[in-house]
This record gives sequence, structure tokens and C-alpha cells, in this order.
Amino acid sequence: MSINPLDTEDISSIKQFYVLGTIIQLIVHGDNAEKAIDESIVKLNEIDDKMSVFKDSSEVSIINSKAGISPCVVSEDTYFVIKKAVAYSKLSYGAFDPTIRPVVSLWGINTEHARIPKAHEIKSDMRFIDYKDIISNDKKKSIKLRNEYQSLDLGAIAKGFAADEVKNILVENNIKNAIIDLGGNIYALGNNPDGTLWNIGIQDPIKERGEYVGIVRVQNKSVVTSGNYERYFMKEGKRYHHIINPMTGAPSENGIISATVISEYSIDGDALTTCVYVMGIEKGLKLIESIKGVEAIFITLDKKVYTTTGIRDTFKLTNEEYTYKNKLELEIAK
Ligand code: AMP
Ligand code: MG
Repeated sequence: MSINPLDTEDISSIKQFYVLGTIIQLIVHGDNAEKAIDESIVKLNEIDDKMSVFKDSSEVSIINSKAGISPCVVSEDTYFVIKKAVAYSKLSYGAFDPTIRPVVSLWGINTEHARIPKAHEIKSDMRFIDYKDIISNDKKKSIKLRNEYQSLDLGAIAKGFAADEVKNILVENNIKNAIIDLGGNIYALGNNPDGTLWNIGIQDPIKERGEYVGIVRVQNKSVVTSGNYERYFMKEGKRYHHIINPMTGAPSENGIISATVISEYSIDGDALTTCVYVMGIEKGLKLIESIKGVEAIFITLDKKVYTTTGIRDTFKLTNEEYTYKNKLELEIAK
């Protein structure tokens, strides 16, 4: 038997670029790596063009400009993502809500206009948040927001969808092993080319990028983290981050500073991290335990790590500053 180096899985291509408001890194092993990456970049730009709220011509911006006026026919992709977003809004009893945009804009996190809004401004804009006002028509693939001034933001779910789409492109190109990293929204395809599982570090939310609390060992899984360290501003020593509790109109504060979800599809993981981040440890754990094949890791401000029961073989706590708490302990402590 001869080994042709061109046939080995060691051929890899790594590319970093900026789309969907984040740094994307694709590590792809296999013969078609370059082609698969090029096709992925095209798809990612397409998703950005359809779903970004920062592009006036995007389908989401058009839906927003027609709020309270008329339905908009959108692409299959955008329709699918909006329907999923509504499903997760229902599942989380509104902790996740894609109509959050007016309040997100008010805070302006990650923009030059970041500020603490006045209580009356928050109260006023919270009137526009209600996922039940997303009117969809499955036949026409149209979306309408019921009332004027309502506005969609798919920022908590679009990257997950994008990761799944990139995975599909890689698989179509016969790629067996890859890491798709969309700014912390990761899909680990196959294994490490040496045959071992992929090791994904869970960012220490308090430390520099690249310092970890622990490691998850996975194959063919999405690993998504929502954290208060991703987008925020500081004011008088306090951190104001980008995950808004739709019930208060302010950054979610319940002790959680990072929530990771491990799932088959990244769209589910992305939506669920935002859901559970806002729901808190107890309700969040309960929700994830109720979904088959999905696991979660929560990190709290007081340096505790809570996980679902099914994750024991997958997650290893490596940082001694953190204490492992399991669901049972949580139940006993109550
Ligand atoms: P993620 O990093 O996936 O948790 O998504 C956070 C982004 O989603 C924010 O930057 C907002 O654009 C948007 N967002 C913030 N809070 C919510 C929420 N409660 N439900 C849905 N989207 C949200
Ligand atoms: Mg999310």
C-alpha cells in the first residue's frame, strides 16, 4: 500500500475573515478544503446580506421598515430562522425574543452610542417587544410585524444557522474533519485528523481570551457559548453586556456570566444559549434537561460551574479557581 500525501487527511486549510459582525475561523482538513472554504465564505456573506440589521437592504431591515404596514416575502433561509426564533421564544416563555431590537438599539452596546438609557425610555421601548406580533405565512413565506416601531434582531440565532450551513457545505465537499468557529459559536465536524476527539475550550469569562474554565471533547457537535464578556461597555465599574432580559429591558443579571450549549444543530445551540442565559440556572438546567441530546454548562459570577447530567464524559473542569456544582447538589441546596 502506498500513501499518497494528497490523499491523507492532513491537508488542511485555515482561514480567518470577518462576516456576521464577528471574526470567523475555518480549519478544514481534506482534499477540497480550499473549495469548501470559498463556498462557505460566499454563503456566510449571503446570510449576512439577508439577516443583518446593519444593512438597510437586508430582508430583516425591510421587514423592520414595513412594521405595522405590510408583509414581506423573504428567502427560505430568513423564513426558517425567524420561525425557529419564534419557536424558541415560545419554549423560553419570552426569555428569548427576536423583537428585542428597539431595546437593543437603545443600549447601543458595541456601537459608538453605547449608554445607559433612562428608565422611561426603556419602559417606552419595551412596549414593542413581543414575539407574538411576528405574523408569518407559511405558503407565501412572508413575515410582518404587527405594529409600527416593532423591529427584529436575529443576532442571537443567525450565527448558529450560519454554522450549520457551513457544515453542510463542508460535508457536500466530502470534508470529514473541521472546526467551524463563528466568534465562539463552534461546530466540530468529525474528529481531529489524528483520530482523537476535538477539544473545545470553554472560555474563562473573567480572564483574557484563550484562558479556559474547562474543555469539552466532542465529535460532530455544535458548542455555542453566550457570555457577558463578548459585547459590553463599562460604566462606573459596572459591566453592561449585550444579552437583554426582555422582562426588564436591561442586560440579564441572574448570576450567570456564561452559558454553553452542546447540541447537534448550531441553530438550536445558539438560540438556547441566549434562552438559558436569561432564564437563569434553575430554569435553564430544567429546560436543557428536557431536550434530548442537548447538554449545557453554566458559569456563575461566584465561579461555580453547573452542568446537565449527561455531560460528565464530555466536559472536564480544568481551572482550579472554579468549583463544579452538579444538578443534584443544586436540588439538595434548595
Ligand atoms: P447571543 O450572543 O447569541 O446570546 O446573542 C446576543 C445578541 O442577540 C445581542 O447582541 C442582541 O443583538 C440579541 N439579543 C439580546 N438579547 C436577546 C434576547 N433576550 N432574545 C433574543 N435576542 C437577543
Ligand atoms: Mg445565541
